[in-house]
Amino acid sequence: MRGLWRIGLGLASVAAVIAQLGGCAGQTVAGTPSAMGGIDPTNAGGLEVSNGPSGPRQGVDDAKLTVEGADGGAMDKIATNAIGDLYDYWDKQLPTLFDEKFTKLTRLVSYDSDGAGVTICGTSTAGLVNAFYCGGGGEDAIAWDRGVLLPMLNKQFGPMSVVGVLAHEMGHAIQSRLGAKSNMSQSTPTIVREQQADCYMGNFFRYVAEGNSAHFQINTGKGLNDILATLFFIRDPAGFDHMTEGAHGLAFDRVYAFQEGFTHDPKRCADMDPAEIDGRIAEKQRSNAEIKQSNEGDIDPTEAKNLQALQESLNDAFKDNGSDQPQITGNGSTCKTGEATKPVTYCPDDNAVGFDAASLKALAAKPDPNAQPGQQGSGGLGDFAAFAEIASRYTLSIQKSMGLPLDDKKAGLRTACLTGAWAGFTNEDAKDRRLRLAIGDLDEAVAELLQEESLIAADVNGKRVEAGFARVEAFRRGFMEGSAPCTKDFA
Ligand SMILES: [Zn+2]
Repeated sequence: MRGLWRIGLGLASVAAVIAQLGGCAGQTVAGTPSAMGGIDPTNAGGLEVSNGPSGPRQGVDDAKLTVEGADGGAMDKIATNAIGDLYDYWDKQLPTLFDEKFTKLTRLVSYDSDGAGVTICGTSTAGLVNAFYCGGGGEDAIAWDRGVLLPMLNKQFGPMSVVGVLAHEMGHAIQSRLGAKSNMSQSTPTIVREQQADCYMGNFFRYVAEGNSAHFQINTGKGLNDILATLFFIRDPAGFDHMTEGAHGLAFDRVYAFQEGFTHDPKRCADMDPAEIDGRIAEKQRSNAEIKQSNEGDIDPTEAKNLQALQESLNDAFKDNGSDQPQITGNGSTCKTGEATKPVTYCPDDNAVGFDAASLKALAAKPDPNAQPGQQGSGGLGDFAAFAEIASRYTLSIQKSMGLPLDDKKAGLRTACLTGAWAGFTNEDAKDRRLRLAIGDLDEAVAELLQEESLIAADVNGKRVEAGFARVEAFRRGFMEGSAPCTKDFA
């Protein structure tokens, strides 16, 4: 059975690796030249950022579909209407783009994982907290757990996250219908299937964002940011090798696939193949030693030795930029002159980075499994989220030394890009570095980037790039290509 959504307990607990000795090496992510043109801070994949309504449309008749086991409750209503709109969407796309007629699913099944199981594709649904597609062996079904999974998603991320899960599962049904036209064969690695399904999900959300969906609407501001954030909270446990059966990939990679789908048509998704994905995927096989090290828990970013490792890492990452390297100190996040931001501030007059230790510690704490998107709940996002906040303020000194304004329209994008470049630097295969990117760290940084209050894509005054889409694109460009494009493309 494939297409299972694994529900992690928030972000996995991982730690930035502060190595005492040169030991196991990190992995280098192959740089992929970016095909993206300029990134507009008020633009989500070609759509202007909007702040209209997000969620089910009111006063529309429900989709009339036969769903086995449905109880007619709120979750089944959202799921069934989502399937109805997905049918409408794919019924147009398949003939137009692939010269294929769309056929509806053979079975739609609603079940309660807390109740007596029903059998789908030879598996009992008892205790199966999931939504999935299964094909092959005469089966062609999408099933969802209305009892536990969907209510949990709805509570944590809102009704559009339920639509998102079904759009992803429909992506697997589309693969099954397209076969070779979607690069599918018996031996297609799981990561390719998952990347395509996230991409097909992005296609459908573009259709919703453009106002074409009968039952749902989404705005390209917070609405879409929350869908991107959902991809961080619903994912494989960190440490899955991307070739492992069941791997969905890191959220960092999943967001990319979703964005590709949102920005392009379904042909783009169908074209994703193992060669392309191997070249750009951030999730690589890790040694057991690295996984063990990563699972040892989050470290305190304000502790002297960890702070020293961060300072060295940033100085080293940007040593060729010719700037006066700012000192990072725990001064309560204040500036002698001028405005300050929380929990970290950059003071241009003294070229210094100051942080508030208590807020940073809270951010670096283990994630709260019940945190809402856009909020941090009682837990934090992990140590790398806190490190990335400091790094973002540090990069303002580089912008200053290059004579770039610290508060213009592009300053937030430059900051996100340079912070991504630093994250990429810590991911390089260099044994002499004390601070290295561990499994899951990248997801912590990008999850933090999508938070409402994050500074990672903010200017010196804390003014943030509105579109989460643009924030992630800028961060990703730095991560993949290094710092050079950050100050050039976003000047
Ligand atoms: Zn899947």
